[in-house]
Amino acid sequence: MSAPAPTPPAAKPANFLRTIIERDLASGLHAKIRTRFPPEPNGYLHIGHAKSICLNFGLAQEHGGACHLRFDDTNPEREEQEYVDAIIEMVRWLGFDWKAVDGEHLYYASDYFDTMYAAAERLIERGLAYVDEQSAEQIRATRGDFTTPGTDSPWRNRSPAENLARFREMRDGVHADGAMVLRAKIDMASPNINLRDPAIYRIRRAHHHNTGDRWCIYPMYTYAHPIEDAIERITHSFCTLEFEDQRPFYDWLLERLAEPWTRPDGVVEPGLFQHPLPKQYEFGKLFLTHVMTSKRKLRLLVEQGIVSGWDDPRMPTLAGLRRRGYTPESVRRMADDTGASKTNIWLDSRVLDAALREHLEGQVARAMAVVDPLPLVLENWAEVWGSDSHREPCQAPAHPQRPELGTRRFELGPRVWIERDDYADVPPKGFFRLFPGNKVRLKYGVVVECLGAEKDAAGQVTAVRAKVVPDTKSGTPGADAVKVKGTITWVAAHDAVPVELRLYDHLFSAEQPDPDETGLREAVNPGSRRVVQGWLEPSLRDVPRETRFQFERHGYFIADRMDHSAGRPVYNRITGLKDGWTPGK
Ligand code: ATP
Ligand code: MG
Repeated sequence: MSAPAPTPPAAKPANFLRTIIERDLASGLHAKIRTRFPPEPNGYLHIGHAKSICLNFGLAQEHGGACHLRFDDTNPEREEQEYVDAIIEMVRWLGFDWKAVDGEHLYYASDYFDTMYAAAERLIERGLAYVDEQSAEQIRATRGDFTTPGTDSPWRNRSPAENLARFREMRDGVHADGAMVLRAKIDMASPNINLRDPAIYRIRRAHHHNTGDRWCIYPMYTYAHPIEDAIERITHSFCTLEFEDQRPFYDWLLERLAEPWTRPDGVVEPGLFQHPLPKQYEFGKLFLTHVMTSKRKLRLLVEQGIVSGWDDPRMPTLAGLRRRGYTPESVRRMADDTGASKTNIWLDSRVLDAALREHLEGQVARAMAVVDPLPLVLENWAEVWGSDSHREPCQAPAHPQRPELGTRRFELGPRVWIERDDYADVPPKGFFRLFPGNKVRLKYGVVVECLGAEKDAAGQVTAVRAKVVPDTKSGTPGADAVKVKGTITWVAAHDAVPVELRLYDHLFSAEQPDPDETGLREAVNPGSRRVVQGWLEPSLRDVPRETRFQFERHGYFIADRMDHSAGRPVYNRITGLKDGWTPGK
């Protein structure tokens, strides 16, 4: 017999960032790579950020490098400690760490304000930046467009000494917010509008979560970011496509700041940064169908009370995904499988769900739950077992392929809960469950034969009647002598555990939702959250929060991390057992 062919290692999905890193390591440009994930702490991380986290931390890990977690907190207006804490928690949840052999790499961009300020003074002294006293509208109006070059500001040719004095006045709070800005002096006719003397510092009296009221001028993002990367000696600065047009300014700025400078008095100052300088590369964003990934819009959902909070289980935030029951493994898997490309991609949420199912299938214990309960009465119980108070012990494996997880034990009694849709007066084609005269197996229990149903005045079924077929108990000799086409799940009424089940579905009905601020509520899928009262098998009487189960036939569920308790079980549906989504189901 020939040996089986070795399975080839799974091909890595296309990832041009990996190619760039491998090129730079092979050429000796860098001995070690250093990446960074730089969130702005103005909201909770979402699935798109997870993509960036997995790329940055993952590629660094893969190549023996380091990845920095850096809070890009240079904009004082919207940043809060709550967001900083939540971001740290979720990066850890995803399984990444900013500790490397050379220490901890957790940084705050606001710690670099002094260096950023000194760099600005250096640019001014070298004639590479000037204070512009035009209004914001004038600056915008004189910038030109794709076909027309911009026009010079009347303040463009002030002397370095005048500019320096003015800039210091800005810093010292002499001027009102918005009265003037510091601009880089590059080229008002550049075909790249971002090089037409971009603003690099503005006056803004705002309390900063880290530096308090120390500063009343703040650097612009496009100025701050390259400096942050250079201070931390980042080798590869990966950002999303919308920054592509900023790359020439990124390079211009760092190259100027790396140059030594001969002062007017002849003293040579070394460059502020050394080569090799960080290089920016842009990759496509990841969007997930049926949700939005914009912190601003997610904040509106929270503020307008459309969701219960940033961690609402329908939210595409990592806090929401965790609460919903997604595993970090499935999120990382999704990120790996999608690689990196030069275009934005819309990922079908079913791909994430498939990764999740694949992870959970082999892991989590099974249990029976009834989601839409209807009583089933076994009328010949006392005849078969001698008394109505008899309880027949049943058992089932906790996991069909993992005997080490043990056995669940429960009892069958004369009254059980079944699913409402497991009964039909008149069976539709292909329906093998309960209808008068038909036999089905109560899973892990006995075969029963349906006798009919009781109804209320409105014709609504209130209970199903059946009788036990003797000698058919699962696991006993001859149990299979009676052949049935259907098996249904159930929970015995005498020891069932009442449970609140939160059945979640897509937050938005549209595949690529993009509602504006006023249309959010209307765009939400009305069936995105349904709460029902059901029953659980008694082995689930005392389950810790965040335990996951596969409820047989229903899908994967998790004990809610906030509201669940042993006395009051609350479970979230993570996802169904199969692909497929029908609106309103
Ligand atoms: P948002 O528009 O949701 O506020 P952002 O890009 O402004 O997103 P940041 O906190 O600045 O949010 O982002 C941190 C990092 O995550 C950045 O490097 C950014 O490029 C990356 N990122 C943000 N959204 C996505 C996405 N949808 N896909 C991939 N990367 C993303
Ligand atoms: Mg941002």
